[in-house]
Amino acid sequence: MPSSVERTETTSFLLMFQIHTRARDSRARTGTLHLAHGEVQTPAFVPLATRGSVKLLEPRDVLDLGYEMVLGNTFHLYLSPGPELIDAHGGLGAFMRWPGPIITDSGGFQVFSMGHGGVADEIKGRGRGQEQGSSSSAILSIGEEGVRFRSYIDGGERFLAPETSMAVQHALRSDIALVFDECTPFHVTRDYTARSTERTHRWLERCLDWHEQHGRAEQVVYGIVQGGVEPDLRIESAETVAASRCRGVAIGGSLGQDKAQMHQVVDWTTAALERVTPERPRHLLGIGDIDDLLVGVGLGIDTFDCAMPTRLARHGVAVVPEPSQRWRVDLAKARFRGSQEPIMEDCHCPVCRAGFTRGYIHYAVRAGETTGRRLLTLHNLSFIQRLMSDLRQAINSGSLNETVAAFMSGAAPSWS
Ligand SMILES: [Zn+2]
Repeated sequence: MPSSVERTETTSFLLMFQIHTRARDSRARTGTLHLAHGEVQTPAFVPLATRGSVKLLEPRDVLDLGYEMVLGNTFHLYLSPGPELIDAHGGLGAFMRWPGPIITDSGGFQVFSMGHGGVADEIKGRGRGQEQGSSSSAILSIGEEGVRFRSYIDGGERFLAPETSMAVQHALRSDIALVFDECTPFHVTRDYTARSTERTHRWLERCLDWHEQHGRAEQVVYGIVQGGVEPDLRIESAETVAASRCRGVAIGGSLGQDKAQMHQVVDWTTAALERVTPERPRHLLGIGDIDDLLVGVGLGIDTFDCAMPTRLARHGVAVVPEPSQRWRVDLAKARFRGSQEPIMEDCHCPVCRAGFTRGYIHYAVRAGETTGRRLLTLHNLSFIQRLMSDLRQAINSGSLNETVAAFMSGAAPSWS
């Protein structure tokens, strides 16, 4: 009965992302993603569980902080422990004991980072590959079919193609799967970016074909907009992705040489998406510094993922409301030895509420005590979660500009 199937599809498409409030003077909106394993209130930050764990935390910690979705990485999980093992456990959520929604990256960014030589460095630590640690993987060939490379785990030859990526994400049973794309670096020519973006569009169709034939209906597939720093290529890519069967849109790629250019690229892209597909959810890949979140929400981004809060924590850095210091304080620095101040004044995160001092964190981090890094991970993720909650409330009450201005001048997130 084709008609009833079609109606079901339309219904689920509409229900998958519900927009509640749109800001009058920006592209910001609040919404709810209705996914197979639960709901996500947007705009939302998505912590990384790259290799199947939010580093140093258990799922209950992440839930207690108020997070509703985490991100797993196809490239790393494909290499180890492998999709068969995770599938046998019932998928990534069952394997890592995370009960909520999961979004999986396609592996495109990691596999191409090897060949392009540090896209992650190029975008100054905002890259999607930042949690992967050192890798000695190497690209053997890139072609229309896919990418052949050497595994950093065992040196064995592996092949990742649009179909492989979708099959792995199928085995991981993520709620949101991303299509396999080429993440073009910033330094290549316009011609290379144009050809690469076209190939990414052909791979988009191959991913959607695979999903249509073999995928689960409850897994939502997002297309990825590429196009480098070329406005016309970005717009064309946004239009191509919008015209496809994908259910949501991710914005990927090397987004420029500095923050101003990155914000501009996001602006071009979401302006185009607002015009051609305002109803689809939008995910910004690998970006999530505090100022990027504040700008990104205004540009109409619904979900963000970034290594920043968790990676900084592992290096002894706390997120604090100090814009002139890029919202960071490095507690590993000698001047914090013996400090009896809290990580952040009036912070209601579980760590600050328990009374841990900067001096203790300094000691624990310097002594190599895992607990120090865990406490900072909790504080940092709590800060981001409360910031996002404040932004959602501000959009709903029509006061986003004032709230963003307050954060930009050093306000702390409210306790909610
Ligand atoms: Zn705190």
